[in-house]
Amino acid sequence: ASIGIALYPDHGDRSNTLMQYADVAMYQAKNSQSGYAIYDPEQNTHSIRRLRLMNDLRDAVEKNQIAVYYQPLIEASSNQVVSVEALARWQHPELGNISPSEFIPMAEQMGVIRLLTIQMLKQALKDSGNWNQQGYHLKLNINISTYCLQDLSLTEKISSVLHNNGVDAGNVELEITESALMYDLRRAGKILEQLKAIGVKLAIDDFGTGFSSLNYLKKLPVDTLKIDKSFIADMCNNPDDRAIVKTVIELGHNLGYSVVAEGIENRQTFAELKQLNIDTVQGYLFSEALSANDFFSWLCKHKQQPARKTAG
Ligand code: C2E
Ligand code: CA
Ligand code: CA
Repeated sequence: ASIGIALYPDHGDRSNTLMQYADVAMYQAKNSQSGYAIYDPEQNTHSIRRLRLMNDLRDAVEKNQIAVYYQPLIEASSNQVVSVEALARWQHPELGNISPSEFIPMAEQMGVIRLLTIQMLKQALKDSGNWNQQGYHLKLNINISTYCLQDLSLTEKISSVLHNNGVDAGNVELEITESALMYDLRRAGKILEQLKAIGVKLAIDDFGTGFSSLNYLKKLPVDTLKIDKSFIADMCNNPDDRAIVKTVIELGHNLGYSVVAEGIENRQTFAELKQLNIDTVQGYLFSEALSANDFFSWLCKHKQQPARKTAG
Protein backbone atom coordinates (compact mmCIF):
# COMPACT_ATOMS: atom_id res chain seq x y z
CA ALA A 1 0.00 0.00 0.00
CA SER A 2 1.02 3.59 -0.57
CA ILE A 3 -0.28 6.43 1.58
CA GLY A 4 -0.85 10.01 0.46
CA ILE A 5 -1.25 12.72 3.04
CA ALA A 6 -2.88 16.14 2.70
CA LEU A 7 -3.25 18.43 5.70
CA TYR A 8 -6.01 20.75 6.79
CA PRO A 9 -5.76 23.70 6.69
CA ASP A 10 -2.29 23.92 5.08
CA HIS A 11 -3.31 22.39 1.76
CA GLY A 12 -6.96 23.33 1.58
CA ASP A 13 -10.14 23.73 3.52
CA ARG A 14 -12.55 21.65 1.45
CA SER A 15 -12.82 17.89 1.76
CA ASN A 16 -12.85 17.46 -2.04
CA THR A 17 -9.64 19.41 -2.48
CA LEU A 18 -7.95 17.59 0.37
CA MET A 19 -8.92 14.20 -1.03
CA GLN A 20 -7.59 15.15 -4.47
CA TYR A 21 -4.30 16.36 -3.03
CA ALA A 22 -4.03 13.22 -0.94
CA ASP A 23 -4.47 11.29 -4.20
CA VAL A 24 -1.69 13.25 -5.85
CA ALA A 25 0.56 12.55 -2.86
CA MET A 26 -0.33 8.86 -2.99
CA TYR A 27 0.75 8.61 -6.64
CA GLN A 28 3.95 10.38 -5.69
CA ALA A 29 4.47 7.77 -2.97
CA LYS A 30 3.82 4.98 -5.46
CA ASN A 31 6.27 6.44 -7.96
CA SER A 32 9.04 6.86 -5.46
CA GLN A 33 8.09 3.61 -3.68
CA SER A 34 8.53 5.48 -0.43
CA GLY A 35 5.42 4.07 1.21
CA TYR A 36 3.96 7.46 2.02
CA ALA A 37 4.23 11.06 0.83
CA ILE A 38 2.92 14.39 2.04
CA TYR A 39 1.34 16.57 -0.61
CA ASP A 40 3.88 18.99 -2.02
CA PRO A 41 2.43 21.87 -4.08
CA GLU A 42 5.93 22.66 -5.44
CA GLN A 43 6.34 19.26 -7.02
CA ASN A 44 2.95 19.50 -8.50
CA THR A 45 3.12 21.94 -11.34
CA HIS A 46 1.28 19.67 -13.78
CA SER A 47 -1.18 18.56 -11.20
CA ILE A 48 -4.14 20.60 -12.37
CA ARG A 49 -4.26 19.02 -15.82
CA ARG A 50 -3.30 15.69 -14.36
CA LEU A 51 -5.94 15.72 -11.67
CA ARG A 52 -8.54 16.73 -14.18
CA LEU A 53 -7.52 13.96 -16.59
CA MET A 54 -7.42 11.37 -13.83
CA ASN A 55 -10.80 12.44 -12.61
CA ASP A 56 -12.31 12.25 -16.09
CA LEU A 57 -10.42 9.11 -17.10
CA ARG A 58 -12.08 6.94 -14.49
CA ASP A 59 -15.41 8.17 -15.77
CA ALA A 60 -14.45 7.67 -19.40
CA VAL A 61 -13.33 4.10 -18.76
CA GLU A 62 -16.35 3.23 -16.66
CA LYS A 63 -18.67 4.64 -19.32
CA ASN A 64 -16.80 2.79 -22.05
CA GLN A 65 -15.74 6.00 -23.81
CA ILE A 66 -12.23 4.92 -24.71
CA ALA A 67 -12.23 4.12 -28.41
CA VAL A 68 -10.33 1.30 -30.08
CA TYR A 69 -8.25 2.12 -33.14
CA TYR A 70 -6.60 -0.44 -35.37
CA GLN A 71 -3.25 -0.70 -37.07
CA PRO A 72 -2.49 -3.57 -39.47
CA LEU A 73 0.37 -6.05 -39.10
CA ILE A 74 1.56 -7.29 -42.45
CA GLU A 75 3.42 -10.46 -43.36
CA ALA A 76 6.57 -9.23 -45.08
CA SER A 77 6.88 -12.09 -47.56
CA SER A 78 3.31 -12.00 -48.89
CA ASN A 79 2.20 -8.44 -48.11
CA GLN A 80 -0.96 -9.91 -46.58
CA VAL A 81 -2.55 -8.35 -43.53
CA VAL A 82 -2.28 -11.07 -40.91
CA SER A 83 -3.22 -9.29 -37.75
CA VAL A 84 -4.35 -6.01 -36.29
CA GLU A 85 -3.17 -4.19 -33.17
CA ALA A 86 -5.81 -2.55 -30.99
CA LEU A 87 -4.70 0.87 -29.71
CA ALA A 88 -6.63 2.92 -27.17
CA ARG A 89 -7.82 6.43 -28.09
CA TRP A 90 -9.34 9.01 -25.77
CA GLN A 91 -11.11 12.04 -27.14
CA HIS A 92 -11.59 14.31 -24.13
CA PRO A 93 -14.69 16.51 -24.56
CA GLU A 94 -12.75 19.70 -23.74
CA LEU A 95 -9.05 18.89 -23.86
CA GLY A 96 -9.24 17.04 -27.18
CA ASN A 97 -7.15 14.04 -28.11
CA ILE A 98 -5.17 12.63 -25.19
CA SER A 99 -2.27 10.37 -26.14
CA PRO A 100 -2.25 6.84 -24.72
CA SER A 101 1.32 7.55 -23.62
CA GLU A 102 -0.25 10.04 -21.23
CA PHE A 103 -3.41 8.25 -20.11
CA ILE A 104 -2.30 4.61 -20.01
CA PRO A 105 0.20 5.25 -17.18
CA MET A 106 -2.59 7.10 -15.36
CA ALA A 107 -4.97 4.20 -15.86
CA GLU A 108 -2.27 1.93 -14.42
CA GLN A 109 -1.75 4.08 -11.37
CA MET A 110 -5.46 4.47 -10.75
CA GLY A 111 -6.17 0.78 -11.05
CA VAL A 112 -8.56 1.11 -14.00
CA ILE A 113 -6.17 -0.48 -16.50
CA ARG A 114 -7.65 -3.96 -15.99
CA LEU A 115 -11.14 -2.78 -16.81
CA LEU A 116 -9.80 -0.82 -19.77
CA THR A 117 -7.87 -3.84 -21.08
CA ILE A 118 -10.92 -6.10 -20.92
CA GLN A 119 -13.05 -3.44 -22.62
CA MET A 120 -10.45 -3.09 -25.38
CA LEU A 121 -10.45 -6.84 -25.84
CA LYS A 122 -14.25 -7.05 -25.98
CA GLN A 123 -14.59 -4.21 -28.47
CA ALA A 124 -11.76 -5.51 -30.63
CA LEU A 125 -13.29 -8.99 -30.71
CA LYS A 126 -16.59 -7.48 -31.74
CA ASP A 127 -15.03 -5.46 -34.56
CA SER A 128 -12.82 -8.29 -35.79
CA GLY A 129 -15.87 -10.57 -35.65
CA ASN A 130 -17.56 -8.19 -38.12
CA TRP A 131 -14.55 -8.22 -40.45
CA ASN A 132 -14.43 -11.97 -40.15
CA GLN A 133 -18.02 -12.17 -41.41
CA GLN A 134 -16.97 -10.12 -44.45
CA GLY A 135 -14.24 -12.61 -45.23
CA TYR A 136 -11.27 -10.96 -43.53
CA HIS A 137 -9.78 -13.32 -41.02
CA LEU A 138 -7.40 -11.31 -38.91
CA LYS A 139 -5.65 -12.13 -35.70
CA LEU A 140 -5.81 -9.65 -32.90
CA ASN A 141 -2.97 -8.01 -30.95
CA ILE A 142 -3.87 -6.54 -27.57
CA ASN A 143 -1.53 -4.53 -25.34
CA ILE A 144 -1.19 -5.82 -21.80
CA SER A 145 0.35 -3.67 -19.12
CA THR A 146 2.46 -4.50 -16.09
CA TYR A 147 -0.40 -4.15 -13.72
CA CYS A 148 -2.55 -6.71 -15.47
CA LEU A 149 0.24 -9.26 -15.13
CA GLN A 150 -0.05 -9.00 -11.36
CA ASP A 151 -3.70 -10.03 -11.50
CA LEU A 152 -4.08 -13.74 -10.86
CA SER A 153 -7.60 -13.74 -12.29
CA LEU A 154 -6.49 -12.27 -15.64
CA THR A 155 -6.41 -15.60 -17.47
CA GLU A 156 -9.90 -16.48 -16.35
CA LYS A 157 -11.24 -13.08 -17.43
CA ILE A 158 -9.63 -13.28 -20.85
CA SER A 159 -10.66 -16.85 -21.28
CA SER A 160 -14.30 -16.08 -20.54
CA VAL A 161 -14.36 -13.07 -22.92
CA LEU A 162 -12.91 -15.25 -25.69
CA HIS A 163 -15.39 -17.99 -24.93
CA ASN A 164 -18.35 -15.58 -24.96
CA ASN A 165 -17.26 -14.31 -28.37
CA GLY A 166 -16.60 -17.75 -29.77
CA VAL A 167 -13.01 -16.84 -30.58
CA ASP A 168 -10.16 -19.30 -30.58
CA ALA A 169 -7.43 -18.20 -28.13
CA GLY A 170 -4.79 -18.89 -30.78
CA ASN A 171 -6.08 -15.90 -32.73
CA VAL A 172 -5.17 -13.47 -29.98
CA GLU A 173 -1.68 -12.25 -29.15
CA LEU A 174 -0.94 -10.25 -26.03
CA GLU A 175 1.83 -7.65 -26.34
CA ILE A 176 3.75 -7.15 -23.13
CA THR A 177 6.23 -4.37 -22.59
CA GLU A 178 9.53 -5.54 -21.24
CA SER A 179 9.56 -3.34 -18.17
CA ALA A 180 6.26 -4.97 -17.23
CA LEU A 181 7.95 -8.34 -16.93
CA MET A 182 10.54 -7.01 -14.56
CA TYR A 183 8.01 -5.77 -12.07
CA ASP A 184 7.46 -9.09 -10.34
CA LEU A 185 8.93 -11.63 -12.68
CA ARG A 186 7.88 -14.73 -10.76
CA ARG A 187 4.25 -13.75 -10.57
CA ALA A 188 4.18 -12.37 -14.11
CA GLY A 189 5.84 -15.57 -15.33
CA LYS A 190 3.18 -17.65 -13.62
CA ILE A 191 0.39 -15.65 -15.20
CA LEU A 192 2.06 -15.85 -18.60
CA GLU A 193 2.25 -19.63 -18.24
CA GLN A 194 -1.48 -19.72 -17.48
CA LEU A 195 -2.24 -17.57 -20.51
CA LYS A 196 -0.05 -19.76 -22.65
CA ALA A 197 -1.90 -22.80 -21.38
CA ILE A 198 -5.25 -21.50 -22.64
CA GLY A 199 -3.64 -20.97 -26.05
CA VAL A 200 -3.12 -17.22 -26.44
CA LYS A 201 0.09 -16.05 -28.09
CA LEU A 202 2.53 -13.80 -26.28
CA ALA A 203 4.74 -11.06 -27.68
CA ILE A 204 7.40 -8.92 -26.06
CA ASP A 205 6.69 -5.35 -27.11
CA ASP A 206 9.31 -2.61 -27.50
CA PHE A 207 12.04 -5.23 -27.46
CA GLY A 208 15.47 -3.71 -26.91
CA THR A 209 14.32 -0.92 -24.63
CA GLY A 210 13.73 -1.11 -20.91
CA PHE A 211 15.30 -3.84 -18.87
CA SER A 212 15.99 -6.49 -21.46
CA SER A 213 17.41 -9.60 -19.95
CA LEU A 214 18.23 -12.46 -22.26
CA ASN A 215 17.98 -14.77 -19.30
CA TYR A 216 14.33 -14.17 -18.62
CA LEU A 217 13.62 -14.05 -22.32
CA LYS A 218 14.79 -17.65 -22.35
CA LYS A 219 12.55 -18.55 -19.42
CA LEU A 220 9.29 -16.98 -20.55
CA PRO A 221 6.85 -18.66 -22.90
CA VAL A 222 7.06 -16.09 -25.68
CA ASP A 223 6.07 -16.48 -29.36
CA THR A 224 7.01 -13.11 -30.82
CA LEU A 225 9.52 -10.29 -30.43
CA LYS A 226 8.51 -6.81 -31.47
CA ILE A 227 11.57 -4.69 -32.17
CA ASP A 228 11.10 -1.21 -30.79
CA LYS A 229 10.49 1.49 -33.35
CA SER A 230 13.38 3.59 -32.04
CA PHE A 231 15.77 1.11 -33.73
CA ILE A 232 13.75 0.98 -36.94
CA ALA A 233 13.35 4.74 -37.49
CA ASP A 234 16.93 5.40 -38.54
CA MET A 235 18.24 1.94 -39.42
CA CYS A 236 18.90 2.85 -43.06
CA ASN A 237 21.26 5.65 -42.08
CA ASN A 238 22.63 4.40 -38.80
CA PRO A 239 24.81 1.27 -39.07
CA ASP A 240 24.54 0.63 -35.31
CA ASP A 241 20.76 0.55 -35.43
CA ARG A 242 20.88 -1.69 -38.47
CA ALA A 243 23.26 -4.06 -36.68
CA ILE A 244 20.96 -4.21 -33.66
CA VAL A 245 17.92 -4.92 -35.83
CA LYS A 246 19.79 -7.62 -37.75
CA THR A 247 20.98 -9.24 -34.54
CA VAL A 248 17.59 -9.17 -32.87
CA ILE A 249 15.97 -10.78 -35.92
CA GLU A 250 18.57 -13.55 -35.87
CA LEU A 251 18.31 -13.96 -32.12
CA GLY A 252 14.53 -14.23 -32.35
CA HIS A 253 14.69 -16.77 -35.15
CA ASN A 254 17.32 -18.84 -33.37
CA LEU A 255 15.05 -19.03 -30.34
CA GLY A 256 12.11 -20.00 -32.51
CA TYR A 257 10.23 -16.70 -32.27
CA SER A 258 8.49 -14.74 -34.93
CA VAL A 259 9.92 -11.20 -35.24
CA VAL A 260 7.92 -8.03 -35.88
CA ALA A 261 9.32 -4.61 -36.78
CA GLU A 262 7.15 -1.61 -35.94
CA GLY A 263 7.46 2.04 -36.90
CA ILE A 264 8.21 1.50 -40.60
CA GLU A 265 7.67 4.81 -42.35
CA ASN A 266 9.28 4.37 -45.77
CA ARG A 267 9.88 1.82 -48.52
CA GLN A 268 13.62 1.75 -48.08
CA THR A 269 13.29 0.59 -44.46
CA PHE A 270 10.76 -2.03 -45.52
CA ALA A 271 13.08 -3.33 -48.26
CA GLU A 272 16.01 -3.47 -45.87
CA LEU A 273 13.97 -5.37 -43.27
CA LYS A 274 12.84 -7.89 -45.85
CA GLN A 275 16.47 -8.50 -46.70
CA LEU A 276 17.11 -9.16 -43.03
CA ASN A 277 14.33 -11.77 -43.04
CA ILE A 278 11.80 -9.93 -40.92
CA ASP A 279 8.54 -11.86 -40.52
CA THR A 280 6.00 -9.13 -39.92
CA VAL A 281 5.91 -5.35 -40.38
CA GLN A 282 3.85 -2.49 -39.04
CA GLY A 283 4.02 1.27 -39.49
CA TYR A 284 2.75 4.43 -41.10
CA LEU A 285 4.04 3.22 -44.49
CA PHE A 286 1.12 0.79 -44.50
CA SER A 287 -1.35 2.59 -42.28
CA GLU A 288 -1.60 4.53 -39.06
CA ALA A 289 -4.09 3.36 -36.43
CA LEU A 290 -7.63 3.94 -37.73
CA SER A 291 -11.16 3.77 -36.38
CA ALA A 292 -12.98 0.47 -37.00
CA ASN A 293 -14.84 1.90 -40.02
CA ASP A 294 -11.80 3.53 -41.57
CA PHE A 295 -9.75 0.43 -40.98
CA PHE A 296 -12.31 -1.69 -42.75
CA SER A 297 -12.20 0.64 -45.78
CA TRP A 298 -8.42 0.45 -45.73
CA LEU A 299 -8.60 -3.33 -45.56
CA CYS A 300 -10.84 -3.53 -48.63
CA LYS A 301 -8.45 -1.31 -50.61
CA HIS A 302 -5.34 -3.12 -49.46
CA LYS A 303 -6.75 -6.37 -50.74
CA GLN A 304 -6.72 -5.03 -54.29
CA GLN A 305 -3.07 -4.04 -54.21
CA PRO A 306 -0.45 -5.88 -56.28
CA ALA A 307 0.79 -7.71 -53.21
CA ARG A 308 -2.18 -10.01 -53.50
CA LYS A 309 -1.01 -11.30 -56.86
CA THR A 310 2.21 -12.45 -55.26
CA ALA A 311 0.24 -14.39 -52.69
CA GLY A 312 -2.27 -15.90 -55.07
P1 C2E B 1 2.98 0.50 -28.70
O1 C2E B 1 2.21 -0.67 -28.21
O2 C2E B 1 4.43 0.32 -28.95
O3 C2E B 1 2.22 0.95 -30.02
C1 C2E B 1 2.86 1.47 -31.15
C2 C2E B 1 2.77 2.98 -31.17
O4 C2E B 1 3.52 3.45 -32.28
C3 C2E B 1 1.35 3.50 -31.37
O5 C2E B 1 1.27 4.73 -30.68
C4 C2E B 1 1.30 3.69 -32.88
O6 C2E B 1 0.32 4.62 -33.29
C5 C2E B 1 2.70 4.21 -33.12
N1 C2E B 1 3.15 3.95 -34.50
C6 C2E B 1 2.72 3.01 -35.36
N2 C2E B 1 3.38 3.07 -36.53
C7 C2E B 1 4.27 4.07 -36.43
C8 C2E B 1 5.25 4.64 -37.32
O7 C2E B 1 5.44 4.21 -38.47
N3 C2E B 1 5.99 5.67 -36.84
C9 C2E B 1 5.83 6.17 -35.58
N4 C2E B 1 6.59 7.17 -35.20
N5 C2E B 1 4.91 5.67 -34.73
C10 C2E B 1 4.14 4.63 -35.14
P2 C2E B 1 0.04 5.08 -29.74
O8 C2E B 1 -1.22 4.55 -30.33
O9 C2E B 1 0.15 6.52 -29.42
O10 C2E B 1 0.32 4.22 -28.44
C11 C2E B 1 1.38 4.50 -27.58
C12 C2E B 1 1.55 3.42 -26.56
O11 C2E B 1 0.45 3.41 -25.63
C13 C2E B 1 1.54 2.02 -27.17
O12 C2E B 1 2.82 1.74 -27.69
C14 C2E B 1 1.20 1.17 -25.96
O13 C2E B 1 2.34 0.93 -25.16
C15 C2E B 1 0.26 2.08 -25.19
N6 C2E B 1 -1.12 1.65 -25.45
C16 C2E B 1 -1.98 2.01 -26.43
N7 C2E B 1 -3.17 1.37 -26.29
C17 C2E B 1 -3.07 0.57 -25.19
C18 C2E B 1 -3.95 -0.35 -24.51
O14 C2E B 1 -5.09 -0.60 -24.90
N8 C2E B 1 -3.45 -0.97 -23.39
C19 C2E B 1 -2.19 -0.75 -22.95
N9 C2E B 1 -1.77 -1.40 -21.86
N10 C2E B 1 -1.33 0.10 -23.56
C20 C2E B 1 -1.76 0.76 -24.67
CA1 CA C 1 2.05 -2.72 -28.76
CA1 CA D 1 5.87 -1.21 -29.38
